[in-house]
Amino acid sequence: MSGQPLLSARQLTKKFGGLAAVNEVSLDLWQDRIHVVIGPNGAGKSTLTNLLSGDLPPTSGRIELAGQDITRAAPEQISRHGLGRSYQKTNIFLPFTVWENIRLAAQSRAPQQPWNPLRWLHSAQADQATQARAEAALELAGLAERRHAIAGAASHGEQRQLEVAMTLATQPRVLLLDEPLAGMGTAEAERMVELLLRIKPKHAMMVVEHDIDAIFTLADHLTVMVNGTVIASGEPAAIRADRGVQAAYLGE
Ligand code: ADP
Ligand code: MG
Repeated sequence: MSGQPLLSARQLTKKFGGLAAVNEVSLDLWQDRIHVVIGPNGAGKSTLTNLLSGDLPPTSGRIELAGQDITRAAPEQISRHGLGRSYQKTNIFLPFTVWENIRLAAQSRAPQQPWNPLRWLHSAQADQATQARAEAALELAGLAERRHAIAGAASHGEQRQLEVAMTLATQPRVLLLDEPLAGMGTAEAERMVELLLRIKPKHAMMVVEHDIDAIFTLADHLTVMVNGTVIASGEPAAIRADRGVQAAYLGE
């Protein structure tokens, strides 16, 4: 690793009343590396994701995206600045096709044009750029053959692939994925793992995951959270061997 992390969080804390759901958590996300976050239910993984994406304001701490302070920025601003995330609850419009969903997601990233007499020209160019972003995301997510399928009729695995495709359509540099394998069968999970490895080189990624096989296939760096606190963070092999982690979570 050289240079700068794309995303850097320092001593992030989120309190809900008296409960510190996230307690002094620091982490760095680097391009071409997958940072997997694990921990039992209620550990604060989703809250951490929400803090990084701006969906929740932190109680204290600091977040930088590509060197810029985004600690109190709105989610749309953070998204425009290059952070994409998926939600555990889906954002898919079920009556629309796979392609239409990706196209809409790509559109949401299109830059707002100030008034301009040549606006028609700009908007034609913006349209082409949006189209190209959507096509690339469709391909990358492995959904090209399912382009015309109605999203609501797609399998669970395909819908989760579609969510990733919709996130990719906004062309993020940093990707946050909260339990991308949730509810998947073995074949679907394998397809998703392949997809994540395929998109890794061009992204800095944080993946919250429970599936042990997927965790150790994907992770370049592994962080373990319990009750809002990081109890271990580092090389996956070292974390796996850590007795404290085994006792707290891995159950090995
Ligand atoms: P995980 O994703 O690791 O399962 P969460 O981040 O969802 O954990 O939750 C961490 C803790 O914060 C839990 O105790 C949960 O009940 C609490 N929590 C999460 N969101 C809220 C909220 N909006 N209001 C109050 N408590 C919350
Ligand atoms: Mg969660």
